[in-house]
Amino acid sequence: MPVEPERVRKLNSAPERPDREYVLYWSQMNRRVDANHALLYAVELANRHRLPVMFYEGLTCTYEYANDRLHTFILEGVPETAKRLKKAGIGYVFYLRRTMKSRNDILYALARRAAVVVTDDYPAFIARDHNGRVPEKLDVAYYVVDSSCVVPMSQIDERQYGAYSIRPKITALMPKYLRAPDDLRVRHRYDGKIPEYHTEVTDGNIAELVASCQIDHSVGPSVSYRGGRLAAEQLLTVFLEHNLKRYAAHRNEPSERATSHMSPYLHFGQISSLEIALLVRDYSEQHKLIANEYLEELIVRRELAFNYTRFVSEPGSLKNLPEWCRLNMRKHAADKREPVYTRGQIENAESGDPLWNATQKEMLLRGKIHGYYRMYWGKKIIEWTRDYQEAADIMIDIHGRYALDGRDPNTYTNVLWCFGLHDRPWPERPIFGKMRYMSYDGMKRKTNIQAYIDEIERIGNAGRDIAAQYELFDDGSYRPDRQEAT
Ligand SMILES: Cc1cc2nc3c(=O)[nH]c(=O)nc-3n(C[C@H](O)[C@H](O)[C@H](O)COP(=O)(O)OP(=O)(O)OC[C@H]3O[C@@H](n4cnc5c(N)ncnc54)[C@H](O)[C@@H]3O)c2cc1C
Repeated sequence: MPVEPERVRKLNSAPERPDREYVLYWSQMNRRVDANHALLYAVELANRHRLPVMFYEGLTCTYEYANDRLHTFILEGVPETAKRLKKAGIGYVFYLRRTMKSRNDILYALARRAAVVVTDDYPAFIARDHNGRVPEKLDVAYYVVDSSCVVPMSQIDERQYGAYSIRPKITALMPKYLRAPDDLRVRHRYDGKIPEYHTEVTDGNIAELVASCQIDHSVGPSVSYRGGRLAAEQLLTVFLEHNLKRYAAHRNEPSERATSHMSPYLHFGQISSLEIALLVRDYSEQHKLIANEYLEELIVRRELAFNYTRFVSEPGSLKNLPEWCRLNMRKHAADKREPVYTRGQIENAESGDPLWNATQKEMLLRGKIHGYYRMYWGKKIIEWTRDYQEAADIMIDIHGRYALDGRDPNTYTNVLWCFGLHDRPWPERPIFGKMRYMSYDGMKRKTNIQAYIDEIERIGNAGRDIAAQYELFDDGSYRPDRQEAT
């Protein structure tokens, strides 16, 4: 079945040019071969024009936050992408722009030889900016395709104000969209030359490539997560076989490690939410499990974030909050904060709260914080900074720099959730006003904070992850954490 037209938008008025060499797919956010509607759409167009497909993926030193952690994670995905594209008969150019002086015109060079350019529709960060300004500079048709969401973003045609309003819409549309995309079938294999600017990436040269880039070398690779499709598939298998059945009961107990760890892979598009949802659905049907809690997070909450980001121009701005939140902040702006920490103290995990310090250290070490403590992490930053927007900016910036899943619709939406977005008013108190509040005592009552603090301290001391679930075998595969359900 062809890619659903509601996933596709044409962003310029330039024509398709069937006399050129290939259809170009520019992989900006969905850095994968499988279940990628944008790549499938490029293949459809190529088959129609009797042309092969060229897959272009770039990595530049120039974007804000470019550092060893993000570069390593992306590069770890490249060898498997190359392998899968070769098997599918699709050409592959990977270009690593190492320094400011290196070439910066690769997309334009490739597009000159293209009959059509197809890329990812994505409402945040660099892709949003590129899709706003690149199409008009090209004299070839430029299509964007939504392969990020299960239900295409276009099908929710207004900004939604909470999970309560988007959930029924998604539920109604799910039967239509929760289905496996077609396999890739190119009719014309790419057998042209690969340009000299292509960067060959192997498992063995990643560290060297990263070191050669003019980027921030002070943020090292995650001690827990290895990038790439294979790592995503392995972690997902661990989740299905050991943790899906524990998810509903234990997802809010960080020391239980019952969550899926899919967010870094989803952010870089190394796996899609559609693939995960299908596997979770099938596995839970086969094993008579209820997966509703997981699918609520993966689809409803995540797609609410895409919806929010799509409908606002500055997703990190508190101006986008509902009226009650803005009034609330005005009323409590002058409330006394005690203590107040500097940006540096926050970044370096130097607060007086041992649990909070552990959450920030998890961010520094692993590149993500457990979802339940991440809420606490955000709420405390509000309490410890003088100005609400400053608090939001610090959270977004720390995510940009350290989080493998940062710079994502989920980042902006969840940071603003800390201020009341998609939430409801709660009883009034200082600084927070009617925003939901979270306290150390509440965390202590509901979770095993000492187990978590100890775990983070151990991985900090070891310089590698000691939680078996994240640990790699020598062949790069993950070691499942638990054999039995608890
Ligand atoms: C202050 C704050 C900042 C956050 N920043 C990010 C971020 O930068 N990137 C990010 O992906 N998530 C973010 N989240 C949401 C959530 O914490 C993570 O998605 C989750 O912890 C990822 O771990 P997991 O894949 O093991 O989650 P699981 O519990 O296994 O969930 C599976 C998937 O569902 C989605 N999901 C889970 N929780 C949420 C949620 N609250 N909202 C939307 N989607 C959700 C994610 O895609 C996640 O990978 C943030 C939450 C808070 C409170």
